[in-house]
Amino acid sequence: MNSAALDTLQNTFGYDAFRGQQAEIIDTLIAGRDALVLMPTGGGKSLCYQIPALVRDGVAVVVSPLIALMQDQVDALGQLGVSAAYLNSSLSMDEVRSVEQGLQAGDIKILYVAPERLIQPRTLELLQRLPVSLFAIDEAHCVSQWGHDFRSDYLQLSLLHQQFPQIPRIALTATADDRTRAEIVSRLQLEQAAQFVSGFDRPNIQYRIEQKQNARQQLLRFLHNEHPTDAGIVYCLSRRKVEETAAWLSAQGYTALPYHAGLPSATRQQNQERFLREDGVIVVATIAFGMGIDKPDVRFVAHLDLPKSIESYYQETGRAGRDGQPATAWMAYGVQDVIKLKQMLSQSQGTDEHKRVEHHKLDAMLGLCEITSCRRQALLSYFGETDHQSCGNCDTCLTPPETFEGTVAAQKALSVCYRTGQRFGVNHLIDVLLGKDNAKVTQFNHQKLSTFGIGEELDANQWRSVFRQLVARGHMQVDVGGFGGLLLTEKCRPLLKGEQSIQLRKDIKVAGERKAARSSGGANLSGPDKALWDKLRSLRKTLADEQGIPPYMIFHDASLMEMVSHQPQSNEALGRISGVGASKLEHYGEDFVAAITEHVENLAEYAGSAANVKATEHETFALFKAGMGVADIARQRDITETTVYGHLAGLIEQGQLDVAEVVELPEQELDAIFDAMLAHDDEPFKLKPVYEALDGAYDYGILRCVRAVIVRETSE
Ligand SMILES: [Zn+2]
Repeated sequence: MNSAALDTLQNTFGYDAFRGQQAEIIDTLIAGRDALVLMPTGGGKSLCYQIPALVRDGVAVVVSPLIALMQDQVDALGQLGVSAAYLNSSLSMDEVRSVEQGLQAGDIKILYVAPERLIQPRTLELLQRLPVSLFAIDEAHCVSQWGHDFRSDYLQLSLLHQQFPQIPRIALTATADDRTRAEIVSRLQLEQAAQFVSGFDRPNIQYRIEQKQNARQQLLRFLHNEHPTDAGIVYCLSRRKVEETAAWLSAQGYTALPYHAGLPSATRQQNQERFLREDGVIVVATIAFGMGIDKPDVRFVAHLDLPKSIESYYQETGRAGRDGQPATAWMAYGVQDVIKLKQMLSQSQGTDEHKRVEHHKLDAMLGLCEITSCRRQALLSYFGETDHQSCGNCDTCLTPPETFEGTVAAQKALSVCYRTGQRFGVNHLIDVLLGKDNAKVTQFNHQKLSTFGIGEELDANQWRSVFRQLVARGHMQVDVGGFGGLLLTEKCRPLLKGEQSIQLRKDIKVAGERKAARSSGGANLSGPDKALWDKLRSLRKTLADEQGIPPYMIFHDASLMEMVSHQPQSNEALGRISGVGASKLEHYGEDFVAAITEHVENLAEYAGSAANVKATEHETFALFKAGMGVADIARQRDITETTVYGHLAGLIEQGQLDVAEVVELPEQELDAIFDAMLAHDDEPFKLKPVYEALDGAYDYGILRCVRAVIVRETSE
């Protein structure tokens, strides 16, 4: 590894070590060779060219189509003490000249350029006169005519190779299948480039898909339990639903802003700005929101409607957790979603071939929703990665769904559809199955049908689940007429005839108090740590507002979390926190150290006032030191032995007593207890599993004293 690169990583960016393939990619560029990099969002792509840009002589030119992001990128580099600038159509002629002068004076290390600006003769002539360290072509998939992000200007970027053959180039993208990759190589003339392909996995995102019952209440519970103060995105299909949901969330006390293509562009701009610059803002959006948003601390993405394809789902959920911290991709999905989307597809413009492809993609998405094995595994295998194990961080891994023998239920559902003439929607079919004697049933004389009231063994939600699975698996389809009626398909015949059986997914009732497997941000802090977290967040916000930049540019959440757990009280200690480089230490070190020190001192004061409570502990201590045993102390003080052990454990934890003084056991036995506790350290401080593992040989009082030693050692 190039030592200058590592120095730059540690001093400028404040990180200890490279992740994944970063080091190799950086070495390749520093050595002057070309590279093609496929890396998922949040994998640390930009470091791959930023570090070589700082290590090599001259200016690095970064080509990007996302003009709206350039100001933020330049600001973020500024925070790190790196001089950067950009050239695009948003600049005035004077501003362009000033950037050009900076370039000629050698003051700029990284230059962002829009592709259409780069290929202008004026820009190319300028670059010819400059020492260029490297070219980075971001969003390289824009060169692909097959992709939906195609940019014709990208096709001309091959001239970089022709006009600057000696200068290393790096092309980067997060979304590329084999065909797109081949296209990038040939169109950008990167045949000699070393290729670096990282997987699609985003391990920090927890994928969860639950059955829609009362979507709003489910969303509310999700936010309340897991992301009460976090920033996130809620996706809905229609503009109206976006507006209604945003208004409703606001009424529930959240800061929720709508975003869709029908809003005035000034409103859109403003809402996007607030999302970037304030803490804890929720954007409720149609899919129009997200392109060109590079906010690292989005903690959740929630879908209230089903995305049209796995590609969309992956792209939208991928906006969560770009900082690598735990994040949740949550979706509520129901039979009406399937019907609505199938209808939309049937009625859309476009060739039959196009519709066929779209239907195929939707079916794959439905498959992901209905799957009973690991969702991440299915998601990744859709992208060609078939060698993954179950992930342990999706809903099907965390709470494996049960299945049931659903043949009879399926037959009833299919036959009620057939007997009513294959023209009614799900709700009516369920009413007939449940024997509801309402107006619509009477109007069509459906109470006379043999299927009337034959489905009372399931409730309406369970029937909805049966219909959903039958549609998702292709046993039924939605009418093309657009009224949401269900029809039978050829595929259902063997099921109806009893030649085939079917296993259905038993949908789990949405639990009231679901605890996230790995919750994130400050949501799982409590007491003094929560207070410090809030204090540091508010300091970060104040500093960010003073400069008009988003808070994450000062420090990422991950750095704040580390500060909460290590509580650094000097600039030197703060400098060891990940994400705190030299420039940030210089600018913000004093403020953050002061805030942390103040917190620690307040806490000590509080502990002092609590000392009286500890008087009883000291009385026990005195008697113990006088040579009394636990049982004697309990008798003398008229307290239980458990309480006495509690006091002694507290004293061990404070370092005033040695465990061997209290627990008179041979060393081997003591070691065995330690081992048992450390074996259960996934549930720290819970004694019951340890008690059971040791077959109840030692009572809880002894275990508490041993645990006190571990607490003491781990808190040091
Ligand atoms: Zn899984």
